Amino acid sequence: MKTTDVAIIGGGPAGLMLAIELGCRGIDCVVLEEDVAAPDFPKANATSSRTMEHYRRRGFSKKIRALGLEPDHPQDVVYCTTLSGRELTRFAIPSRKEALNRTSFGDYGEESWPTPELPHRSQQMFIEPILREQALQHKSVKLMLGWQAGTIDMDATGVTIAAHHTVNNEEMTLRARYVVGCDGPRSMVRKSCGIRYSGQSEEVREFFGGQMLSVFFTSSSLYDVLGKKRAWQYWAVNAVQRGLLIAIDGVDKFLFCLQMQPGETRESVDYETAMFKAIGAKFDYELIAVEPWNAGFTLVADAFSKDRAFIAGDAAHLFTPTGGMGYNTSVDDAVNLGWKLAAVVQGWGGEGLLDSYQAERKPIGHRNTAFARSMADSIGGIKVPPNVDDNTPEAEQLREKMGAALYQHVRNEFNIPGLQLGLRYEGSPIVAAEAEAQTPDQPNTYIPTARPGSRAPHIWLGDQSIFDLFGRDYTLLCFTSQDKASAALDAANWEKEAAALGMPMETLYCDNADARKLYGADCVLVRPDHHVAWRGARSADAHAVLAMACARPAKEQQRKAA
Ligand SMILES: Cc1cc2nc3c(=O)[nH]c(=O)nc-3n(C[C@H](O)[C@H](O)[C@H](O)COP(=O)(O)OP(=O)(O)OC[C@H]3O[C@@H](n4cnc5c(N)ncnc54)[C@H](O)[C@@H]3O)c2cc1C
Repeated sequence: MKTTDVAIIGGGPAGLMLAIELGCRGIDCVVLEEDVAAPDFPKANATSSRTMEHYRRRGFSKKIRALGLEPDHPQDVVYCTTLSGRELTRFAIPSRKEALNRTSFGDYGEESWPTPELPHRSQQMFIEPILREQALQHKSVKLMLGWQAGTIDMDATGVTIAAHHTVNNEEMTLRARYVVGCDGPRSMVRKSCGIRYSGQSEEVREFFGGQMLSVFFTSSSLYDVLGKKRAWQYWAVNAVQRGLLIAIDGVDKFLFCLQMQPGETRESVDYETAMFKAIGAKFDYELIAVEPWNAGFTLVADAFSKDRAFIAGDAAHLFTPTGGMGYNTSVDDAVNLGWKLAAVVQGWGGEGLLDSYQAERKPIGHRNTAFARSMADSIGGIKVPPNVDDNTPEAEQLREKMGAALYQHVRNEFNIPGLQLGLRYEGSPIVAAEAEAQTPDQPNTYIPTARPGSRAPHIWLGDQSIFDLFGRDYTLLCFTSQDKASAALDAANWEKEAAALGMPMETLYCDNADARKLYGADCVLVRPDHHVAWRGARSADAHAVLAMACARPAKEQQRKAA
């Protein structure tokens, strides 16, 4: 029987990112992925700032930034009557080249996206091979392709997984201390644990609510047929045929999404006629493949773990793709769980650390699915009058009105620094509480804060983000001004206490006054996932703070219990 510390079922974005987080800490893990080949059909298109920050933390954001549309290709979102016809409105998003070293886009003003990594547009099918490559750089990661996990069986000391090979039918049993179901919406792990999704299923809307069809094709003439400044997403908003066209590589690959009518199937739907109507012209193309999918899910699992089993990614929540949240929330789950599993396997993390995964991530599942749903309602509920494309002054006025409404919608959907950077784990058992009111959690506005629970705020220190200077695990951020010697003495005390708990922690001394102001305290404990665990005076009770952060009982509690 094969044995490992962590068995990961599913090698999509969640499973691979989890393997990367475990692998970089030397934790033995096996990823079972039923497919042999990497995906070759488009799904997620948008990598959030937060996901890019995670990739930067693990050292491969540049590889991801190099994927996708051509460097100069605009990443704009444009709404038209027909895609070769009138433009109703356009939201400008920086190209890949422009995104480097920018801190804003849209019309939200300078510094509205204080991050070293603006969002990026590239297909999930281009990203997954890089995630596989990164996972395999770690000796402790084993990626077993073609292996489908059939059952899990938990006992007091571990989990037994029965799997078979999808090509040669070979069978295998794997024994692990923990199992993580990163096995997508139909998650065998979630079902085996008796965990259900709750929320809204298969909501119906005029568009982006119901059975959808993605048509993946190549065309060398389509950009000329569209006849307008290039964009990343093109939405057809008319009363005859709505549709969404996405530029996949900026050269000749495109994805067209349409909503099927009740009774239509992948086989019966006339996607070509629908595509020509939405585009407003016929053009030459070569079909690669079509895939149906369902819009209208807002689902979050009732629990994110049971005993030694955890679920992450689509196994734990299911989105309608508006806002581009599914894959990004999945990567963020994996990052949250990865260092905690590593801490428990290495023996310095208390059992409560694993409980904090659900406490922190389930509310984010609700927060993010609710946002995606509101955006689907916003675009899907738009009623398009039949005369929208007429050559009359009334129609002209109508188009202006619709353009303004669509601009407001797109601004809400894509200019979301608050949603991507403002997530916080307020109330988590491994985060210190602060009395003052928290800044509001608003999707379109991000207010930088180092209040415990928040993502540590970014600031440039020379040409490096403060993130680049944090350690792999905990970082004690120690602000110094005139008192460098006493800071070093205090930090030595923190380091001694961390060593006594077996917690990996590095000290970062910083004498930048702007950074001190941003972080709001002389001393800040930053977690391995770059969320703030605690901030305060350097002279605080280091042992109590560190024990809280890794869910271990502090000496005082131990004494009382004794
Ligand atoms: C049309 C469309 C557009 C989208 N656009 C976006 C977007 O712009 N932004 C965004 O963030 N998200 C988007 N998403 C969502 C995104 O694709 C998913 O949220 C993401 O793939 C979830 O990652 P995951 O790793 O949790 O699951 P998956 O990607 O589904 O990976 C699960 C893996 O587990 C494997 N597996 C399943 N069961 C087993 C088993 N028993 N044994 C072994 N292996 C198993 C599967 O083969 C699969 O590889 C979109 C989705 C669709 C359908």
